[in-house]
Amino acid sequence: MHAARVLIDGPSELVFDYAIPDGLPVVPGCRVRVPLRNRSSSGTVLQVVEAQDLGFALRPLDSLTDPEPLITENLLKAGRWIANYYGCSMESVVRALLPEAVRTEENSAKTRKTVVLQGSPDEETLAKLEKRAPKQHTILSLLAHSPAKQLPLAELGASAAASVKSLASKGLVKLIDEEVRRDPEADGLDEILPDSPLTLTDEQQMALEAILDSISNDQFPIPKPEAPNMEKEIASPSAQHQPRSPGLGELGDLASPKSQAQSPLITDHSALGTAAKPFLLLGVTGSGKTEVYLQAAAKTLEAGKTVLVLVPEISLTPQTVRRFRARFAHVQEQVAVLHSNLSQGERFDEWHRIRKGKARIVIGARSAVFAPLPDLGLIIVDEEHENTYKQDQIPRYHGRDVAVLRAHLEGATIVLGSATPSLESFQNCLDGKYQLLRLTKRADSHSLPLIRVVDMRNEGRKTKANDTFLSERLRISIERKIANNEQVILFLNRRGFARSLQCPSCGYVCECPHCSVALTYHRTDDRLLCHICGHQAIVPRKCPECRDTGIFLQGFGTQKVEDVLKKVFPTARIARIDADAMRKKNALRDLLNAFQAKKIDILIGTQMIAKGLHFPNVTLVGILNADIGLHVPDFRAGERVFQLLTQVAGRAGRGELEGEVIVQTFTPHSPSIQFARHHDFDGFAEQELEMRRQFHFPPFTRCAVLTSRSTHKRLAEFTLETLHRRLKEDLPKSILLGDPLPSPLVRSHGQFRFQLMLRAASARTLAKHVQAALTKTTLPEEVTVVFDMDAWSF
Ligand code: ADP
Ligand code: ZN
Repeated sequence: MHAARVLIDGPSELVFDYAIPDGLPVVPGCRVRVPLRNRSSSGTVLQVVEAQDLGFALRPLDSLTDPEPLITENLLKAGRWIANYYGCSMESVVRALLPEAVRTEENSAKTRKTVVLQGSPDEETLAKLEKRAPKQHTILSLLAHSPAKQLPLAELGASAAASVKSLASKGLVKLIDEEVRRDPEADGLDEILPDSPLTLTDEQQMALEAILDSISNDQFPIPKPEAPNMEKEIASPSAQHQPRSPGLGELGDLASPKSQAQSPLITDHSALGTAAKPFLLLGVTGSGKTEVYLQAAAKTLEAGKTVLVLVPEISLTPQTVRRFRARFAHVQEQVAVLHSNLSQGERFDEWHRIRKGKARIVIGARSAVFAPLPDLGLIIVDEEHENTYKQDQIPRYHGRDVAVLRAHLEGATIVLGSATPSLESFQNCLDGKYQLLRLTKRADSHSLPLIRVVDMRNEGRKTKANDTFLSERLRISIERKIANNEQVILFLNRRGFARSLQCPSCGYVCECPHCSVALTYHRTDDRLLCHICGHQAIVPRKCPECRDTGIFLQGFGTQKVEDVLKKVFPTARIARIDADAMRKKNALRDLLNAFQAKKIDILIGTQMIAKGLHFPNVTLVGILNADIGLHVPDFRAGERVFQLLTQVAGRAGRGELEGEVIVQTFTPHSPSIQFARHHDFDGFAEQELEMRRQFHFPPFTRCAVLTSRSTHKRLAEFTLETLHRRLKEDLPKSILLGDPLPSPLVRSHGQFRFQLMLRAASARTLAKHVQAALTKTTLPEEVTVVFDMDAWSF
């Protein structure tokens, strides 16, 4: 006898076993109704297990809500891995796997009453009707002349219902409930002009062929899972000897028998195809990565498989989405774009369209990694280095890493693309876990833009006014471009709340003597603090380098930049993109359209505009404050600045006109700026990886952050200190334990936050010890403790 292990819907995370009634096809991933105490409840089947002899009969489950499982076996496996690896509950993962819109019973397919003509009525009947019931006659002839011989009831006029009823009683028509799709694109906001494949450059061709080779069926057979065999879900003792999965160092660890208590993940590698290694497509900005994606996607569809395209954020990558729509305009109804602003009904319909294989190419942000595509052949993760792929709420998964796992489980090919890949992915190439594909030239044979670095320390001496964020060089350049009717993007590098002290005169930044990161200024107690080792310092009254007394807090907003620019360039048309612009529906799109139509001369923005925009008439990109991201207490600071500069510079000179980039900085010799200036990813990676290795940072370790939060400051602090003591006693030497410290954003939403950083070679070991410490500690009710594996911000 088999039993279903059911996760009950609701906040309390109950899991119960229920007997499966004879003949009911219950498999993992099914949605079911079950009795719970004296109510009926809904839930998701996590596993089907051999029913144990408990000495009493298990209650049987009531019914299947859907005839087929809503979560596929592979997605359920991915879900278990997420729960294990990121240390979160299965309930939270199931929530991510099945969107609210699909889970709730309130949603259902939308239908409309439709009248269908039955056969063709004979002359005699028609003549009779024309005389006695002209209304019925009209309806019949309308139906007969409609292309599908059917019409929605609502279109037949207000009083048609009665006539239709009599027609139905005569057997001339039938009234049915027809399913209609709530089409998110129905209002046709953007006109899509179909386009066709370009002739590839040699480099593109080679990349495409490598990708296609791995998609081709004969080489990499996609496994057809046999009838679900539940025992396989239990870790097999031989798991240890299975080859480690490509690129997923930790996966093997998690699947090993040691983690038997928690549900283990992949146990039977032989049942999975031998999917190729993940590809890392490293192509300079404008090298035509998107064209490679498009052609690989087309071939995948031709092979009868489906395609998943992940982008950092839909609203910020309108041009990528548009290019996919244009290329696949001939099969428009097969394309699904999962926006965050879909209505519940639209989401429900799109999800089911995907699951039924009607939408065969899905574009979406992070959470689309769970799109229930059948026969997945290809996953593309565009701009794979972007931090938006890391979810900052439970479950705190990394979309790119889950995509790699999913590709592995499904036997699909995966392509991670970027001009500035994350060092994690790049190191995976060096280790032979990923395969590197390179595009070194711009596809349109334009050269990469010339990058000029302006040393703001000199500018500061020239003019002491507070708003001298505009160097002479940049000002003159802007003037010239506007005179030529060319366009300018100005980029303001803003890193949220983290504040460092910088001398306006010489650019000196207060740094930690032990960690080579900027000290963070804490206003509350007027001191400087290192967020990695805890080093404290007093705030200098004079700059230690140049004795200037103007050492100040950095950070000016886009608003202020706009105000100043309006004064300096009174005739220019200036617009700004920031969080405000994002808030209004369509505001961003309208603005970008206006910019495209050359109705704006200067566009000011933050990180947001660094992503994938393509404006041929932009010939100048100015980066106002390249440094600010450098001086944040984060070991990825240098990497982020390098990425930003490279991406932003890539926005210049994308048309016939030569592009120019001006980088304003107080630290012109910082490696991030110098390597970006020379378009030298390899040089940057080599130096940065060496540093990471030396200081035991990722990708050479796994890094997690434990945060305590409470409205009571002392309570949050005390709880974390207690946990810290416990960890210190229990942790093996191989785990590096940081000190408990206030978070950079110490107070947010009325809550105080304290955090500590942990690093270890293995994520599993790390998670295990933290879990143990957490279970041994009784947490005060008013404190929330959050564990974030592979934390992405500090
Ligand atoms: P990336 O995604 O690498 O930044 P894009 O895919 O945006 O680069 O390509 C940059 C430009 O080059 C686009 O305008 C694109 O249409 C064009 N392009 C890409 N591939 C080719 C090609 N093989 N021949 C001509 N133009 C191309
Ligand atoms: Zn330090």
